[in-house]
Amino acid sequence: MNILVPVKRVIDANVRVRVKADGSAVDLDNVKMAMNPFCEIALEEALRLKEAGHAESVVLVTVGGEKCQDTLRAGLAMGADRALHIVTDAALEPLGVAKLLAKLVERDDYGLVILGKQAIDDDNNQTGQMLAALLGWPLGAYISKVAPDGDGFKLTREIDGGLEQLQVTGKCVLTADLRLNEPRYASLPNIMKAKQKPLDTLTAEELGVTLENRLEILGVSEPPSRAAGVRVSGAAELVAKLKDEAKVI
Ligand code: AMP
Repeated sequence: MNILVPVKRVIDANVRVRVKADGSAVDLDNVKMAMNPFCEIALEEALRLKEAGHAESVVLVTVGGEKCQDTLRAGLAMGADRALHIVTDAALEPLGVAKLLAKLVERDDYGLVILGKQAIDDDNNQTGQMLAALLGWPLGAYISKVAPDGDGFKLTREIDGGLEQLQVTGKCVLTADLRLNEPRYASLPNIMKAKQKPLDTLTAEELGVTLENRLEILGVSEPPSRAAGVRVSGAAELVAKLKDEAKVI
């Protein structure tokens, strides 16, 4: 089985996000970018499945502009076998990305696709779900444990108030939650080796997909800054403030 891992280049999770002065978008100029953290977790799980003998190869794919190749090289340094770059400068929406991934899965021979549960830039949390629907494959979303079982997997997923156990058989789509694993760091020798690993480029047209957007961003704004806290003298004052000022009790 070959595993496909779609990875997205996003603002580094440790960077403070700034909004452009005209409120049209997040400012990406001179900002440190990195692989989306949930995609790192997805990749780590794919690598562990391969290392345990459940897969022959782990293939990365990203959709985006030229700089996304840095993200692919980072994933190759973690241990992926090869990478595909679907090159486009178009603004991307989850359905467009899912359509491209579906075409890729139909073209090549993948038994499993593991995505991040969401990209931390747009927080869409949609691509994995849309991909499973387009392929007609079972979906395990928000997965926190993957155990190979015969022709499929026993899965644990995080839901409100607990954990749900699922069984999937055959080809499937999984989306990785935070507690699935701790991604490895790439070692220096592996960073060097990654430069020699295959990285192929292709276009949306080659996959027969026309990217059309259905959403219009009306504006982007920073959340209101938090007001300074006050120290209360005791429980009675706290209750009075919650009741009379905050009006929450
Ligand atoms: P989203 O639905 O945008 O929150 O993204 C969920 C997951 O879909 C990400 O963690 C990636 O695995 C995948 N994904 C989203 N956008 C892209 C992209 N441009 N290229 C590759 N994978 C993507």
